[in-house]
Amino acid sequence: MFLLNSDDEPPPCADDPDLWFVDDGTLKGARVTDHVNELIHLAKDGCAVCPYKTPCLQHALENGEYGIWGGTTTDERRRERRRMARRAA
Ligand code: SF4
Repeated sequence: MFLLNSDDEPPPCADDPDLWFVDDGTLKGARVTDHVNELIHLAKDGCAVCPYKTPCLQHALENGEYGIWGGTTTDERRRERRRMARRAA
């Protein structure tokens, strides 16, 4: 969950934070069942309409957060960080 200021409108993840942390940072292969995938997509749908999506994603990329942040999973951000590192090299 990401807020710029405490008086900002609560983001969609504030209603059900556990849903955004169904991705506990270890999801790979067989652990990503259809049910887990469905939950991840529900969280991503919330992120898609969130006014904090861009700064939320930036925060998660910079701080190595796990869970769904800015519409991305932990694994997707790992891959994005690797792409960014390759581009910077
Ligand atoms: S982009 Fe997603 S994880 Fe980030 S504050 Fe919004 S709803 Fe929460």
